[in-house]
Amino acid sequence: MNIILMGPPGAGKGTQAAKLVKEFGLTQISTGDLFRKAHREQTSIGVISDYFSKFGRLVPDDFTNEMVYDYLKENMNNFGNGFILDGYPRTILQARELEYFEESLGFKIDAVINLDVDFDVLKKRLSGRRTCKNCGATFHIMYKPPKVEGVCDNCGGELYQREDETEAAVKVRLSTYEGQTRPLIDYYKMKGMLTNINGDQSMDDVYSDIKKCLEAL
Ligand code: ADP
Ligand code: ADP
Ligand code: ZN
Repeated sequence: MNIILMGPPGAGKGTQAAKLVKEFGLTQISTGDLFRKAHREQTSIGVISDYFSKFGRLVPDDFTNEMVYDYLKENMNNFGNGFILDGYPRTILQARELEYFEESLGFKIDAVINLDVDFDVLKKRLSGRRTCKNCGATFHIMYKPPKVEGVCDNCGGELYQREDETEAAVKVRLSTYEGQTRPLIDYYKMKGMLTNINGDQSMDDVYSDIKKCLEAL
């Protein structure tokens, strides 16, 4: 089963994807994580994406599509029970490109799940988010505090606050979402692929709604 997990920054995509990985043996593909890895390694895509990501803007479609295509192609046989796209597609052009990838690499997207959360809630989630430098796991200083402050529960890695989590960058990210990503909701609704889920519930309740949706498939 291959699914797209959509939603604005801070909606809980990463949090829910981690639960699905654990329970169903799916592989999480987070473009945000791929860009941050490229940044740490200062590869050419890392250098290019820095310029956009730092300010909360999207990396241009052609770079993003190429990175995703290469990743899918290289790992096509290693996805276990399927994959979860977390943070891709984020524009209509990316969605169109993904359809081309389905044909050329021979896979199918089975469902699109959209996590719906109001902007006021998102701002609180983003400002309190802490991310593991080592494994990318996310925590929250109030809603999901790590057992030891500043230390990842999963791997013992150091937790940090992302560079694009300043108030200014968050503002840009939310308005970028409105302008470029929100139109995808209607796109997938028209294709009959979309399930909308209220993301403003406890993490466990959101997860149980996602499971209900997947079981119905
Ligand atoms: P995304 O991947 O969509 O940007 P995350 O999964 O990283 O979002 O979640 C953003 C922040 O909000 C994290 O700090 C996370 O711990 C917290 N969070 C996620 N889901 C919930 C929830 N249902 N209730 C409260 N906080 C949440
Ligand atoms: P969040 O978890 O808050 O939704 P991500 O970690 O997914 O944010 O993304 C961080 C940054 O990486 C984005 O602000 C953007 O610069 C870049 N990025 C991630 N996915 C995409 C994409 N599909 N298209 C363009 N840029 C992307
Ligand atoms: Zn970790």
